[in-house]
Amino acid sequence: MFKITAICSVCSKKIEANEEVNVKLRYPVSKGITEIKAYLQNEGTITCMDCFNRKDDK
Ligand SMILES: [Zn+2]
Repeated sequence: MFKITAICSVCSKKIEANEEVNVKLRYPVSKGITEIKAYLQNEGTITCMDCFNRKDDK
């Protein structure tokens, strides 16, 4: 697994190891998968499942 510091973009909760999350991101154009860690931190919008499910309920 990737070791990244992830925080929910909605509630700012720290994402725990092995916690399921929703990540919204743009597909990398040309850098490929090798920089996915940096890419996730720079481009990814991480949402914990609590917030993700809450959003869905609306
Ligand atoms: Zn959240």
